[in-house]
Amino acid sequence: MLYIHVPFCQQACSYCDFYFVTSLKYKTEYIQAIQNEILLRKNEIPENLPTVYFGGGTPSKLSLADIEKILSTVYTHFKISNNVEITLEANPEDLTYEYVKGLINIGVNRLSIGIQSFDDRELQFMNRAHNAQKAEYSVKLSQDIGIENISIDLIYGSPLLTEFLWEKHLEKAISLNVPHISAYNLTVEPHTALYNRVQKGIIANVDEEKSAVYFNILSETLVQSGFEHYEISNFALPQKYSKHNTGYWKYLPYLGLGPSAHSFNTHTRSWNTRNLNTYLTYLLKNELSIEEKENLSLQQQANEYLMLGLRTQWGVDLSTVKNKTGIDFFYAKSIEIEQFVSRNLLSVQKNNLYLTHNGKLLADYITQKLIV
Ligand code: SF4
Repeated sequence: MLYIHVPFCQQACSYCDFYFVTSLKYKTEYIQAIQNEILLRKNEIPENLPTVYFGGGTPSKLSLADIEKILSTVYTHFKISNNVEITLEANPEDLTYEYVKGLINIGVNRLSIGIQSFDDRELQFMNRAHNAQKAEYSVKLSQDIGIENISIDLIYGSPLLTEFLWEKHLEKAISLNVPHISAYNLTVEPHTALYNRVQKGIIANVDEEKSAVYFNILSETLVQSGFEHYEISNFALPQKYSKHNTGYWKYLPYLGLGPSAHSFNTHTRSWNTRNLNTYLTYLLKNELSIEEKENLSLQQQANEYLMLGLRTQWGVDLSTVKNKTGIDFFYAKSIEIEQFVSRNLLSVQKNNLYLTHNGKLLADYITQKLIV
């Protein structure tokens, strides 16, 4: 799997802690640097690539020519699966007829559109660059032009949201006939505008009890409409899972290019620098800008299998974890597992451990209690 981090954004959304810059000044250098990084790291993935994912930032800030340059370098230096999934994260304001048509022509076959809300007041609160009308239009336009494989992102938990409004958002999302919906609880991350406003008492912090209610509405509504709740924050019509993200949750290796991108090869993890200028300085000299590399112990690997697997509807196969790492969670955590099962937060089927619906609401807490 290949991930390419595109750090450019039009403006800073109030809640965002991804790595991004709000100027396109170094876009040309960035494209060259990504191409250089592909060449430097092409041997890190010898097998066929099943997915290419442009994430960000806002990849739709790149021109069609920019994306084509990157993709053609990818095609030249990696082996690509016949049915490769090529996803581009896009914001509604960037999706014009010509742009979507061009994306299809250069091989992008999946869009992940950052809708977040269908309400103008909420969008302003989040400092998004689009309005509700544009959000809806961008999805319909992309479908009309021929992209069927679309995911939309939604956020719940803003102080402006009500149960009524959340139900309306979900109705709207379902009516758009997209096969995939990701819905995230708003989190107040340090160093964001939202954090500062909460700290100053201008707005209230996210109400976790309300968020739990929104989560229940979300899951119930989408499951009733035929979606599988296949990961805590992700819903898909049958077989319409994100291949790329499913690979992360199934602990598959991936190569991450671009500033702040992570890479993982099942026993080591590494991070590129989280600074565009530093990234460019190194890559334009044909040197890597890996800030940190961590060898994962068997214990860390076992914990990661558990953390990631528990998030999904497939659960975590503890016999596989034992075979790969030597760590037997059924033995090491028998008391905790039994307690969570009796509280209807976990279920065990054969060698697999799953979060129940109630367990998903406490996923972080349960995981913390189970890791070794
Ligand atoms: S949420 Fe997305 S569009 Fe907004 S600043 Fe963050 S990366 Fe950019």
